Amino acid sequence: MSGRPNTVRLVLLGAAGVGKSALIRRFLHNRFELKYTRTVEELHVLEYHTAGSGKMHLEILDTSGSYSFPAMRELSIRHSDAFALVYAVDDPGSFEEVRRLRDEILELRGGKRAPITVVGSKGDLTETEGRVLLAGDVMATVEGEWDANFVEASARTGGNTVGVFRALLQQVDLPHRLS
Ligand code: GDP
Repeated sequence: MSGRPNTVRLVLLGAAGVGKSALIRRFLHNRFELKYTRTVEELHVLEYHTAGSGKMHLEILDTSGSYSFPAMRELSIRHSDAFALVYAVDDPGSFEEVRRLRDEILELRGGKRAPITVVGSKGDLTETEGRVLLAGDVMATVEGEWDANFVEASARTGGNTVGVFRALLQQVDLPHRLS
C-alpha cells in the first residue's frame, strides 16, 4: 500500500498518446474527448465505499510516456500497488514499450511477481481503422507467458473501461473490489 492507510495507488504507464488519460476520464467522469492534451503527471484521488472495508482512498496516477522523466517513472513504480501498462491496438511500438516497462518494473521489484494489468486501449478500432494488434495474440503473451492480467478497452465507446480498474484492484491484496 502507499503512504496513507486505507489508500490504494494505481498507476497507468505507457507510451504517449495511447489513451491513458482518456481511460481515466471515462472511468471517473464518463466522458471522452477527441482532442489530445499532453499529460506530464496527474494524480486523481477519490473516495469510495465497499461493503466489507468501509471508506477507502483510491489514487490513480496518470503518467507521461516521455523518457525525459525516468526518475519520476521510477518513483511512481516504487510507490504503486498495481500497474496498468497501456498500449494502443493501432500502435505496435506502444506494445514494445509495454515490454520495456514490464522489464523495468520486475527489475525495480527485485524479480518479485508484479501486479500488472496490460491494457489494450482504443479497442473500438477495427483493422480497416488501423488496428494491427489482435486481442488473442496479445492475450497469449500476457496471460500465457507473463502471468499478468489482460484487458482490452475503449475509452471512446466506454467498452470495458470499468474492467480495467476492476482488474487492477483484483491484483491488490486488500479486501475491496469494484462491484
Ligand atoms: P495518453 O497520452 O496516453 O494519456 O493519451 P490520451 O488519453 O491523451 O489520448 C490520446 C489520443 O487518443 C486522443 O486524441 C484521444 O482522443 C485518442 N483516444 C483515446 N482513447 C481512445 C479510444 O478508446 N479510441 C480511439 N479511437 N481513440 C482514443
